[in-house]
Amino acid sequence: MRTTAIIIGAGHAGLAMSRCLTEYAIDHVVFERGEVANSWKTERWDSLQLLTPNWMSRLPGYGYQGDDPDGYRTMPETIAFLEHYAEVSAAPIQTHTAVTSVRRCDDGYAVVTNRGDWHCRAIVLASGACNIASVPAFAEAMPSTVATLTSMAYRNPDQLEEGGVLVVGASASGIQIADEIHRSGRPVTLSVGEHVRAPRLYRGRDIQWWMEVAGIFDERYDNLENLARARRLPSIQLVGSATRRTLDLNALTDLGVKLVGRVVGISGGKAQFSGSLRNVCTLADLKMDRLLDTIDAWATTNGFDGEIDPPHRFPSTQVDASPPLGIDLQSGEIRTVVWATGYRPDYSWLDVPVFDLRGRVRHDGGVVDSPGMYIIGLPVLRCRRSTFIDGAGNDARYLSAHLASYLDNGNAMPESVRQRLLDRHRASDWHSNRHLYGTGVLL
Ligand SMILES: Cc1cc2nc3c(=O)[nH]c(=O)nc-3n(C[C@H](O)[C@H](O)[C@H](O)COP(=O)(O)OP(=O)(O)OC[C@H]3O[C@@H](n4cnc5c(N)ncnc54)[C@H](O)[C@@H]3O)c2cc1C
Repeated sequence: MRTTAIIIGAGHAGLAMSRCLTEYAIDHVVFERGEVANSWKTERWDSLQLLTPNWMSRLPGYGYQGDDPDGYRTMPETIAFLEHYAEVSAAPIQTHTAVTSVRRCDDGYAVVTNRGDWHCRAIVLASGACNIASVPAFAEAMPSTVATLTSMAYRNPDQLEEGGVLVVGASASGIQIADEIHRSGRPVTLSVGEHVRAPRLYRGRDIQWWMEVAGIFDERYDNLENLARARRLPSIQLVGSATRRTLDLNALTDLGVKLVGRVVGISGGKAQFSGSLRNVCTLADLKMDRLLDTIDAWATTNGFDGEIDPPHRFPSTQVDASPPLGIDLQSGEIRTVVWATGYRPDYSWLDVPVFDLRGRVRHDGGVVDSPGMYIIGLPVLRCRRSTFIDGAGNDARYLSAHLASYLDNGNAMPESVRQRLLDRHRASDWHSNRHLYGTGVLL
């Protein structure tokens, strides 16, 4: 079977891309191995609420319509939001269709699925950035008496045996899971490596509102001092909740969660922790203060100071004078280990030589190093906003224009089209009526 373009994945990024290709009247098909919003349906824990407020979900021709723009979607709400988007966009999705191979051929790509073979001229990889839970290799040395699971397999505390739990990783997933498990009555030890600390609310506004108005989300990939690092940055320690609470390490300590350093190895039935706990916490505190300095400067410059709460700073992260450097995993104190150590994409089906030495797809802002191939839905793809649902709109607009131009010309986007797109980007609803400030802050 033949079509002009194929999109792999019906998450928000694939749907945004489909909507844009429809606007260009480009014949295409979206292949989805599960159902629309498959990741949200099958790979997240039950109590998860988005850490981005409802207003931060603007997609091409679609956005939040309810009366709680500052609230945070539950999983069922997130799924319903994306299912409705697929429906109103009339996206040409083939569900339960897994792509098992993509190869380059003379005039495009040969795509093999579990339901037949296809040919297309252009292809969009929207298969997600978080397909596999990253777990350190030394996890294999875990004693068999300790149950293990990843943040992708975790659903709720009822899955776990009674007894102590070691949660490894203190970014958004780790702190949320540690909080929930500890509240279930199981004593939690949280292993803390590099993390990004931020309050939920600052001076009465959501931290992400501040990052939006201060222009931080709009920092472009080709302007960042250290793009590789920006793309590797752990998720911000935030939780979405009705009370809009801040869930940081101090809040967890107050609950009774014990903080230890990063797990650096497992040997002889013992987990070893790095001695760097104090340092990583001090660094995260320092970077948070730098972010708040940027926000305060923006507020002053833009005449907000009289209208909102005054600037203030949060207490430093409290760390024990000498936290333990190891724990005996065979003593019975720890019954379960939850690896919340991040996620990575799965391109095992991509048989095109576009990978760098670390196995990442080589691309320039989503334009892959193979003619007519695009990628969307990766952190900081074209700007910091790309990391979130909210970023896929602009990324899809740019990449669909590039793709349309490729189909017309068989080569790169002409300067006139590029300029028109940039103008449209600047004039689009969420880029108007505000002044950019404070770009360059390193999160
Ligand atoms: C725990 C967690 C919490 C997050 N919270 C937020 C948040 O609060 N706010 C926010 O904006 N972002 C959040 N994100 C980040 C981001 O929005 C998600 O990672 C999002 O799911 C990425 O969207 P996507 O469309 O790129 O990928 P996905 O939603 O993962 O969609 C990719 C789709 O491709 C399909 N697929 C993959 N391989 C194949 C194949 N070979 N053949 C066919 N189909 C395939 C998958 O089934 C999936 O449906 C979170 C991410 C995680 C992991």
